[in-house]
Amino acid sequence: MMNQQQMGGQQLPPDFKLTDAREMLCECGNNTFMDGVRFRKVSRLLTGNSIDSVIPVQVFLCTACGKAFNEMLPDELQETKIIK
Ligand SMILES: [Zn+2]
Repeated sequence: MMNQQQMGGQQLPPDFKLTDAREMLCECGNNTFMDGVRFRKVSRLLTGNSIDSVIPVQVFLCTACGKAFNEMLPDELQETKIIK
């Protein structure tokens, strides 16, 4: 199972082809996603700043069903995996 941290520092063999990689699918079976951003607000009581902080969280939305792609969410935001 590939973990998300490997996305940035690509360690791929020189003869690698995309066809060697497993396609990641939405739970609806669609394979195309679009960018989205969620925002989390952090209370100033937590950070000690004078105002609340806003943290953008990148999400990928399925172009078919519109749901956020759970597998690409930060670990803390992932919904419980549904085992079929
Ligand atoms: Zn979908």
